Parts: sequence; C-alpha cells; structure tokens
Amino acid sequence: MGESQQTTASNMNRLIRPSLDTIFKKNKEWVATKTNGDPAFFDKLSAGQSPDYLYIGCSDSRVPANEIMGLEAGEVFVHRNIANLVPNVDLNVMSVINYAVRHLHVKHIIVCGHYNCGGVKAALTSADLGLLNPWLRNIRDVYRLHEQELDAIKEDDKRYNRLIELNVIESCRNIIKTAAVQQSYENNQYPIVHGLVFDLRDGLLRDLEVDFEAMLRDVKKIYCLAPGKKSE
Ligand SMILES: [Zn+2]
Repeated sequence: MGESQQTTASNMNRLIRPSLDTIFKKNKEWVATKTNGDPAFFDKLSAGQSPDYLYIGCSDSRVPANEIMGLEAGEVFVHRNIANLVPNVDLNVMSVINYAVRHLHVKHIIVCGHYNCGGVKAALTSADLGLLNPWLRNIRDVYRLHEQELDAIKEDDKRYNRLIELNVIESCRNIIKTAAVQQSYENNQYPIVHGLVFDLRDGLLRDLEVDFEAMLRDVKKIYCLAPGKKSE
C-alpha cells in the first residue's frame, strides 16, 4: 500500500471509528436498560420467537419498523426493501412471507409504505437507473394498472402520494396471491393483511383500510392456490 493510500485508509478510519464507538456505547446502554426493566429479558429473547406480526416496509432510514409501532424485540418479523415491494419472483420477500406464515404462524401481515418515498419518486422519473430499473418497474406497473385514476390527479404531490398508497395496496394483493397466505387463512382464519402508510411529517401511521376478505375473494378468482374443502 502506497503512502497516499495509507493516509486515505487512516483518514477513513478516523471518520468511521467514532460512529462505531457510539454504536457500541449505545448498545451497552440498551442492554443495561433492558436488563434493568426485566432481568430475564435476554433469556426470553434467546429462547425463541413467536411474533404476531410480519412487517414489510421500505428500507428508508426514517421509517424504523419496531420504533414507529412501539414493538419490542421479538414482537415483529421484519422485511424491508426499496419501496416495500412484493414481486412474485423475489426469493427474498417470498421466503420471508413463507417462513412467517408457515413456521411463525403470524396473525397479521402489515405492508407499510411512507409518503416522500424516494423509490416511488424514482419510478416516476424518465431515466435509466441501471440496476434499479427492473425493481422500480414494479411501481411503474402499479401506475399502469391505475393510470386513469392517477392521471386524473392534477397536482404532482397528490398524484405521487396516491401512487405510494396504491403501491402499498398492490403489495397487499401480491401477498394474498401466495399459497402460504391462502392456505393458512383457509385453515386458521389468519393471517390478515393490512396496508398502512407512515407520514414523515407527523409520525402517524394511516390505515388504508384494505378490506382483506373482499381482496382475498377477488384475488382468488384468478390466483386461487387454496380451493378449500369440498362440501359434503
Ligand atoms: Zn421509501
């Protein structure tokens, strides 16, 4: 390594180290707080998990899943990606849904989008975004499905916000298309799928009031993977 490379590396270390030190310090403080509140906290945590919720949200740093819902470690199974998408060929999100439904037996699946979503904004731009193109195409498809409604909204901000909501609703629909959800609901009457939007301006979660039963019935007209028990 040349002298200038060494200088660059040591400069990088100087920049990175303090923030890592802070993280370790805060981690110890968190451990102390948890242990003070409940001396058996980490014994319980290491014994296993049985969360009631699966949360699928955006990777955006401003939307921390546990924090906005007031849920503790162990209470929510979390998957995050850019713009909270549920593409049916994405092994990552499909594995998460499958595991959460079939093995953890979650009672609720929450899709949580957020206003000011950079992923959704990027999908509204006419530009080649490289590797992001196929990912963001899912959002462009949501636009195409709801083109009439969206094009009728004259104000750009309002159209953008509505696309964020419709994108959450489409992710809910994609979750309901899975065999895991259809079969579990058929046998257990759960999980229920919910669509929420987080508002960065006031910190509040808004319920898009997805009618799960109606959406399930509608989805099963074409995507039925759990035909149900035959009547006697
Ligand atoms: Zn986002």
